[in-house]
Amino acid sequence: MPPRMKSGGRLVVIGGDAAGMSAASRARRLRPDVEIVVLERGDIVSYGACSLPYYISGVVESRDDLIVHAPEFFRRERHIDVRTGTEAVQLKPRDRTVVCRTAFGEESITYDTLVLATGAKAIRPPLPGVELPGIFTLRSIPDGDAIRDRLAALGAATPQGETGAETVPGAIRAAVVGGGYIGLEMAEALVARGVRVTIIELLPSVLSTYDKDMSDLVLRELLDRNVIVRTDTRVEGFEGGSDGHVGCVLAGGQRLSTDIVLMSVGVRPRVELASAAGIDLGRSGAIAVDPRQITSEPGVLAAGDCAESPHIVTGRSTWIPLGTTANKHGRIAGENAVGADIRFAGVAGTNVTKIFGLEVAQTGLSTAAAEREGFAPDSVRITGTTRSHAYPGSGRITVKLVFEQQTGRLLGGQMVGVEGVAKRIDILATALAAQMDVHALAALDLSYAPPFAPVWDPILIAANQAVKKLAR
Ligand SMILES: Cc1cc2nc3c(=O)[nH]c(=O)nc-3n(C[C@H](O)[C@H](O)[C@H](O)COP(=O)(O)OP(=O)(O)OC[C@H]3O[C@@H](n4cnc5c(N)ncnc54)[C@H](O)[C@@H]3O)c2cc1C
Repeated sequence: MPPRMKSGGRLVVIGGDAAGMSAASRARRLRPDVEIVVLERGDIVSYGACSLPYYISGVVESRDDLIVHAPEFFRRERHIDVRTGTEAVQLKPRDRTVVCRTAFGEESITYDTLVLATGAKAIRPPLPGVELPGIFTLRSIPDGDAIRDRLAALGAATPQGETGAETVPGAIRAAVVGGGYIGLEMAEALVARGVRVTIIELLPSVLSTYDKDMSDLVLRELLDRNVIVRTDTRVEGFEGGSDGHVGCVLAGGQRLSTDIVLMSVGVRPRVELASAAGIDLGRSGAIAVDPRQITSEPGVLAAGDCAESPHIVTGRSTWIPLGTTANKHGRIAGENAVGADIRFAGVAGTNVTKIFGLEVAQTGLSTAAAEREGFAPDSVRITGTTRSHAYPGSGRITVKLVFEQQTGRLLGGQMVGVEGVAKRIDILATALAAQMDVHALAALDLSYAPPFAPVWDPILIAANQAVKKLAR
């Protein structure tokens, strides 16, 4: 059962971004009569890491646009005691106490209930030379500032599109280590700044959570935009250049000259506080929670990138760190921490991104993931058009459906196209939540008008193909 909170009780939230501030705000909405304290080790709360690549490219013009609300807003408008520059260093659940470190020393704060919203951290593998200046990860606004500063120092074109001091296009070289969605969004941002980009990926394909036949469409787009992509290539280390910054990447037995490196090889849940306090971690290494976001320790809840979620297709716990989930987790943890009793429905891992001229999206399981989870999957893949053939501006969209061989139950979907992908992936996410099979999907009454879709929407075409395949 969720913990009861007496009037005048204190909720402490550790972490002041998406999950933490959602939890604090939701708790305040329900309970004006309790004290709410947020501990954030950085200087900023409630920021949007998702927009960082666009801040670096210049699409997002102002740093202020990345911040949803300043700490002062939460203090004044929501009566939430936001303490920035305050790092929680130890959790003592038996005493219901958090030990914090600030610029002025250590102090302890007691709680009635606690929400852990410590997020995730970018992985920096211990490779030779990885600490050289000019090698970055991207997780926070200060990380984004540091990358922008380095690009300016190198003379890259400005975010406003003005030619930089280094006028030859492509004279500045960047290595992006890791071809996941953050690496690819950053490749686009760096190209926008006039930088020549090489992506180095250990696996045989970029976007490895997608099936290869779909991620190959993205690979082709990267190559068309003059991005160099080296798959099946292991980074062995880095060497300094003449100015003391990174000068080359050692990868696949070669030395590749570079001026800047982005390490985007994934993230890990930040669970040190929880695990040192004896709170159970799940199979994924993130904090294990029940559907009410309650951990193994009574009175302690967890939300966002530090916590696991139930997967709506497999029914098992999973760890898919996304901002969408962090906000929902935060709401549920915040309400339950002050006495409500609500549950999280689970995730399908629905995500969408823009890679140059393509929209790329996924929900549920890929074929490989379905096999790993013990399903016997089949799939269909079709390429259609995004608008009616007579209407100008139509482009290609490829839809892949993954479904169970025996029953036709939809297990997942992936899409790559020039437009309309974000709208359509949400249809598949909804179908997964409703546990539809491909017959039900093929019967959906989807909208049609020439500027938006062909009369047979690509989703319906794919679903009909799946129905035919099942009938054989
Ligand atoms: C470049 C980039 C692009 C992204 N794009 C998307 C996207 O398009 N769509 C999407 O859904 N998701 C996206 N994400 C993921 C999304 O940003 C995260 O899932 C989300 O920020 C998680 O929120 P959170 O509050 O759980 O954790 P975090 O954002 O990691 O916040 C955790 C906070 O806790 C603080 N903290 C940690 N430990 C302590 C401690 N001991 N004491 C005090 N404070 C502490 C940290 O300083 C931090 O502010 C992107 C992420 C990045 C980096």
